[in-house]
Amino acid sequence: MTSPSTILVAGAGIGGLAAALALARAGFRVVVFEAAPALSEAGAGIQLSPNATRVLSALGVVEALRACAVAPAAIRVLNARSGREIVRIPLGRAVEARYGAPYWVVHRADLQRALLEAAAARPEIVLRLGFTIVDHAVGEHGVTVVGKTQSGVLVEEQGHALVGADGLWSTVRARLGRDSAPRFRGRAAWRALIPAGDADPAWRRPLTQLWLGPDAHLVHYPVRAGDAVNIVAIVKDDRAARGWAAPGDRDALLARFRRWSAKARAILEAPARWQIWSLHDLPPRPRPGRGPVTLLGDAAHAMLPFLAQGGAMAIEDAAVLADCAAHRPDDLAAAFRTYEQLRQVRTMRAAQESARMGAIYHLGGALAAARDFVMRRAGGERLAARQDWLYRWPG
Ligand SMILES: Cc1cc2nc3c(=O)[nH]c(=O)nc-3n(C[C@H](O)[C@H](O)[C@H](O)COP(=O)(O)OP(=O)(O)OC[C@H]3O[C@@H](n4cnc5c(N)ncnc54)[C@H](O)[C@@H]3O)c2cc1C
Repeated sequence: MTSPSTILVAGAGIGGLAAALALARAGFRVVVFEAAPALSEAGAGIQLSPNATRVLSALGVVEALRACAVAPAAIRVLNARSGREIVRIPLGRAVEARYGAPYWVVHRADLQRALLEAAAARPEIVLRLGFTIVDHAVGEHGVTVVGKTQSGVLVEEQGHALVGADGLWSTVRARLGRDSAPRFRGRAAWRALIPAGDADPAWRRPLTQLWLGPDAHLVHYPVRAGDAVNIVAIVKDDRAARGWAAPGDRDALLARFRRWSAKARAILEAPARWQIWSLHDLPPRPRPGRGPVTLLGDAAHAMLPFLAQGGAMAIEDAAVLADCAAHRPDDLAAAFRTYEQLRQVRTMRAAQESARMGAIYHLGGALAAARDFVMRRAGGERLAARQDWLYRWPG
């Protein structure tokens, strides 16, 4: 019997860990390299749509998440200026019945812990923390990665193939020589998490609440089984910061929302601390990888967050990648080209749709009134059905 091929994965984010699990289940040995010395996800929430929870279920992660996930009954869309509800888009049981998988909101740390525990339970997966990949080279027998350890020592590791799941600022992508610098999109996400005890009962309800205003919107939902409320405000911005954790000036944020309704402003006044994440995406590229090297998740197709699909696409990527690799274990380069081809149209559509939603969310004046009218007239059921292409995946 030949020993299984070793696939190297750069990055232990949502995409890298999901890929490691899917590849291990497909019979590969996997080594995951993560630059951070310890895995501690940003204190923020993430929405997991049915296309993502379906894959997480197949990866054996859903049960560990269930206890801390919240299943919102609906997305409640409100006009931020008037404070009036525009429409409710049903989620909860309606989603489970329609798509056979739940729509959950979770804390990122809970998702990461569930993925990590599942990975730790598989002997085929090795996790190397504090190992920053700085370069890679493709040779006759596979791929060599060069990484820097915490103490600054350069180390080489070998495998049969490499998956760059190292996020927006991917080193693997840069080393592939692709013309692919992230584009700053002139907006910033302000993020905060407050304990349920500090939150108005209306914010603790199992709902995703989405307030739409000119050039800005606000989303909040409970996480950690209702013990905390996640708040994200997206506003225009002309400065690009790197990373998740740049501190935000609360007063500056509140000043931008002066003309919002008192109910919406009360939510923004609740957190004492905010963190800012500048929004970038990647220009679409037809062939992200080369030879036995490919990209996955944000490294391949970082997108704007208005459709809440960046993480879901990374999780889908992981499932498709492992499927392709399982079909061509003897030719991983060919398997990776098939994977890239299979993912291209869908991830491009998600990115385009996300940008389009952002433009609609941030309309002002007469156009905002027209948007609210169209949404109200369409009604929640019809608006929900518009996500069939996204949530029914793989069909
Ligand atoms: C405001 C906001 C809200 C969002 N909301 C949602 C949502 O509700 N639902 C959803 O599905 N998506 C959402 N997203 C998108 C989602 O967060 C990302 O798409 C997802 O986190 C990408 O995962 P990833 O594993 O590809 O990359 P990352 O999470 O960036 O992980 C990359 C990992 O690689 C490591 N790394 C980087 N460089 C190296 C290196 N050289 N060597 C080794 N390791 C390295 C990093 O430390 C990191 O751990 C949102 C994004 C934003 C900005």
